[in-house]
Amino acid sequence: MDNSMVLKIEALNKNEAFARSVVAAFCVELNPTLDQINDIKTAVSEAVTNCVVHAYEGKGGVIEISAALENRTVHIEIKDFGVGIADVEAARRPFFTTKPEQERSGMGFTVMESFMDSLSVLSADGGGVTVVMSKNLDVNTGQGD
Ligand code: ATP
Ligand code: MG
Repeated sequence: MDNSMVLKIEALNKNEAFARSVVAAFCVELNPTLDQINDIKTAVSEAVTNCVVHAYEGKGGVIEISAALENRTVHIEIKDFGVGIADVEAARRPFFTTKPEQERSGMGFTVMESFMDSLSVLSADGGGVTVVMSKNLDVNTGQGD
């Protein structure tokens, strides 16, 4: 790895903007485009929000965020120690949500997947969730926009 960082925060709504800004700032040394930065911010925001609302159900807990740069790829890991996901495959499907009453649309994982180059979701029921994603920051690897 060329550079790396770790951030440990409380699972509170107000820390979501902080977390996405920290990860975005960490990537700046690779001179990402504004689109790439926005994609990373959006993906981090979705993952952190899931920790706040699902993993700890608003009661708070620890979120560990780590990021590493390898050549022109950023690897990001967002880990919680909350309730976990029993069926990860189902949870990743578009529109799947266990909180429809809370205006959740079930699109968080779909957004992460489309804005990043790779996404894996690891969970043992009751053992927390680890979201691992990466994005290549070469120029001209955007999504045609
Ligand atoms: P949206 O993100 O559109 O507001 P959502 O959060 O329900 O809705 P996803 O982010 O795609 O949709 O997550 C799908 C489901 O996976 C959630 O409804 C929840 O059941 C589960 N889930 C996601 N992240 C976690 C987590 N960190 N801990 C426990 N369960 C999670
Ligand atoms: Mg979500």
